[in-house]
Amino acid sequence: MARQPMLKFVNIGRDMPEKRDANVRNHDFHEIYAEYAEAKAAEQASRCSQCGVPYCQTHCPLHNNIPDWLRMTAMGRLKEAYELSQATNTFPEICGRICPQDRLCEGNCVIETAGHGTVTIGAVEKYITDTAWENGWVEEIVPMAARGESVGIIGAGPGGLAAADVLRRAGVQVTVYDRHDRAGGLMTYGIPSFKLEKDVVMRRVAQLERAGVEFVLNCNVGVDLSFQAIRGQHDAVLLATGVYKSRELTGPGAGAKGIVRALDYLTASNRIGFGDEVEAFENGTLNAAGKRVVVIGGGDTAMDCVRTAIRQGATSVKCLYRRDRANMPGSQREVANAEEEGVEFVWLAAPKGFGGDPVSGVMVQKMRLGAPDVTGRQSPEPIDGADYVEPADLVIKALGFEPEDLPTLWEEEALPVTRWGTIKADFQTGATELPDVFAVGDIVRGASLVVWAIKDGREAAAAILAGFDAQASQVAAQ
Ligand code: FAD
Ligand code: SF4
Ligand code: SF4
Repeated sequence: MARQPMLKFVNIGRDMPEKRDANVRNHDFHEIYAEYAEAKAAEQASRCSQCGVPYCQTHCPLHNNIPDWLRMTAMGRLKEAYELSQATNTFPEICGRICPQDRLCEGNCVIETAGHGTVTIGAVEKYITDTAWENGWVEEIVPMAARGESVGIIGAGPGGLAAADVLRRAGVQVTVYDRHDRAGGLMTYGIPSFKLEKDVVMRRVAQLERAGVEFVLNCNVGVDLSFQAIRGQHDAVLLATGVYKSRELTGPGAGAKGIVRALDYLTASNRIGFGDEVEAFENGTLNAAGKRVVVIGGGDTAMDCVRTAIRQGATSVKCLYRRDRANMPGSQREVANAEEEGVEFVWLAAPKGFGGDPVSGVMVQKMRLGAPDVTGRQSPEPIDGADYVEPADLVIKALGFEPEDLPTLWEEEALPVTRWGTIKADFQTGATELPDVFAVGDIVRGASLVVWAIKDGREAAAAILAGFDAQASQVAAQ
């Protein structure tokens, strides 16, 4: 009888790829996890119990065929594992690196419920795709016979790029417009390279360019080129512009020098990583070196800021969050990484105001958790008399993002938006009420995740193609 390659979770424990020593990694911007060796990846994949109803797959936004590619990996059939994984995911090596797996696939792995650690799905997904790139198994995108239609995509983040990939493969002419000088959206300029090294993103952009996707960069739609002009040039338009309006702080002194926005800070750091000249970094405005840094917020953006500040050589880095550890929105894995690297978390603490200009301190109001609100989440409330000043030379605001007012900026009042300012679009197809205009990713969902943007982009591209086919059949029938 053939040897059973799977169900090894009883005897083999969960083992993540090795993390680089915190005191070494906090001095550089390289990714913190080493790659699995082949035997280790096979061993970890073999822990999967091959569930008949795989909850990991159900809870992966892309419904990746996880049990099958784990089995192929366990059997050493890596090329087949890669082929399965790339069939449902445009950028598996990116998701393997940065999906919050504890909230998605791994968080729903049944062997954890049975008291064993989850299968390390994300790390295996990264391993098989990195191996595919190394071995030349990632094939060039070869477009099918050229079609007459063209699609304009506004926004070169994961949503826009995933759609570009599907459309170009089908033979559509694709033009991607972006206001930045490099494609990739937040994968390029938001997420730091210690989570996602930039050559991983640029390699995918180059693959799309070689396939004939045209990138029009440094093009701020609404300023350099109108939305209406883009609509006039293409048969369909896809909006994938993300959300970029930072939530602001109020209170005395909130406008002082030295209080900066998270995304400005992270973009500058990522640009330095690319070797760009960034004046605001050189003159110290967006550089934490030698400073006492306070980051305000408890989400993943705040985690990225504190860990960037440590690497830039801040003398101290503190993260203030108004709820406690259990109630923070950021990933617990990232909090643990930050703590190992030397970040101090100050829970139940909210800024009340700021002293000095340039800033010299944050007036901190200590909080406690009160009664649950309508969502069931306990609301923070101030503790009278419990305030103090936290010294700071650089304060980074990481309170989340909201959509820009696109109908006004683009002078297109008919663009349908929700009361939160996100674009109103069908969740399955991305179709908006404007004919032949689709929308995907954060601009529809609000600040979300790369994997959801990829899912949306793929699905909207399929809907656009179906629309083109339907129009072509109508013309043929006339
Ligand atoms: P974006 O990636 O935001 O791309 C939108 C693009 O549109 C940008 O390139 C922008 O320049 C362009 N654009 C906008 N307006 C215009 C215009 N008028 N004209 C031309 N171009 C325009 N998600 C994860 O899954 N894991 C993580 O670890 C993670 N970490 C994050 C860390 C940070 C600091 C931030 C801010 C977000 C993080 N996210 C993470 C969320 C994730 O990056 C987003 O959900 C995802 O990138 C959304 O994809 P998108 O394609 O909708 O938009
Ligand atoms: Fe898990 Fe993300 Fe990969 Fe899906 S895409 S299997 S959620 S890591
Ligand atoms: Fe394997 Fe866990 Fe998915 Fe079950 S839930 S198929 S054990 S990875």
